[in-house]
Amino acid sequence: MMSYVDEVLELVKQKNASEPEFLQAVTEVLNSLRPVVEANEELYKKNAILERITEPDRMIMFRVPWVDDKGQVQVNRGYRVQFNNAIGPYKGGLRLHPSVNLGIIKFLGFEQIFKNSLTSLPIGGGKGGSDFDPKGKSDREIMAFCQSFMTELSKYIGADVDVPAGDIGTGAREIGFMFGQYKRIKGMFEGVLTGKGLTYGGSLARTEATGYGLLYLTEELIKCHGESMEGKTVVVSGAGNVAIYATQKAQQMGAKVVTCSDSTGWIYDPEGIDVALLKEVKEVKRARLTEYAAARPSAQYHEGRGVWQIKCDIALPCATQNELLLDDAKQLVANGCKCVCEGANMPTTIDATEYLQANGVWFVGGKAANAGGVATSALEMSQNSERLSWSFEEVDAKLKGIMVNIYHNIDDAAKRYGMEGNYVAGANIAGFEKVVNAMLAQGVC
Ligand code: GLU
Repeated sequence: MMSYVDEVLELVKQKNASEPEFLQAVTEVLNSLRPVVEANEELYKKNAILERITEPDRMIMFRVPWVDDKGQVQVNRGYRVQFNNAIGPYKGGLRLHPSVNLGIIKFLGFEQIFKNSLTSLPIGGGKGGSDFDPKGKSDREIMAFCQSFMTELSKYIGADVDVPAGDIGTGAREIGFMFGQYKRIKGMFEGVLTGKGLTYGGSLARTEATGYGLLYLTEELIKCHGESMEGKTVVVSGAGNVAIYATQKAQQMGAKVVTCSDSTGWIYDPEGIDVALLKEVKEVKRARLTEYAAARPSAQYHEGRGVWQIKCDIALPCATQNELLLDDAKQLVANGCKCVCEGANMPTTIDATEYLQANGVWFVGGKAANAGGVATSALEMSQNSERLSWSFEEVDAKLKGIMVNIYHNIDDAAKRYGMEGNYVAGANIAGFEKVVNAMLAQGVC
């Protein structure tokens, strides 16, 4: 007889055949949950727990018309997938990137359920976005898009319903435009988005949180293996918000970060990445990495992809999904890399993950390792609810506590099921347990 996990995997494949990223995320999670599901098979099956957790509460898709600088009307597609609110209001970012489609948003929303549960804070899982490409757009075009997007999205969200935030392509500027439009439509000033500016309800340390949190967890992991960050060589991919603050915190901890990358090329800087320069190039000028290389004599610029060929102790993929493939994993292992922690969502393919684990690399997936961003978003929600704002030190200390706690929770969960050192399984199990208990308590819904 087919196991319950295999039955549901089969069903999910049939129902979502055209969504490879969603299937990848579900396959990874359900496979690693086997021991938990086997221990509770009758109860879970009777309550259709796996069928329910893999089917979003609802998926909203809508037209986003806006006028470009030439007076031409453009049309994009907007998405919000409200996946699971068993433990709190839907929470998750908005991705603006031409690659966005329903399958990508579903995979991100599915991952978000477990990630948000791991933070120990009361937030459910959701995700949204659009195939809009912010690259090369003027500020006015960005505003026109954001206002149109929010005009429709505002019908479905709210501070106690669904609280979107940033993701790839959505930063402080976009959140500001969207918040303004929400307020205008609803006539209500509420904490409906996180990642807001500091003058209108944003939280200190939210900008840094994903990258800093990644390093707090990484540091705890290697500390528990008798090592420290001091003197380590670190390879980072990406050049966005996560990569920038991961690099900064790694350097503060005494490590040397020697790479970064964007969609067109990558930098090898053996002297260590100059974070101030990187921020100037990416956040102020919104330019390509060639500008970093032009301003920095020690830096080499290469076209295409390639950061994983650089010898390192620790690798931190902080760009996007499926950016670390099996061949990259082989290269990392051959070069003596000991630790991979994901700053991005699902950057490592399943075969690459398995290869790293089989070769003794300490591997922590994004659900645990990058949870600091959304955790700090939940802290922003708390501050909005009590109409107060906390100091940077206070938020940063809470973030660090949360990340250290996540590491120990996933480590313990793996040990409880006899899979010591499998932090992927540990994260999925620990995240799942809380959500399932809440679902069972709330009956059929
Ligand atoms: N987009 C981020 C993530 O992948 C943050 C979401 C949030 O702050 O709600 O977790």
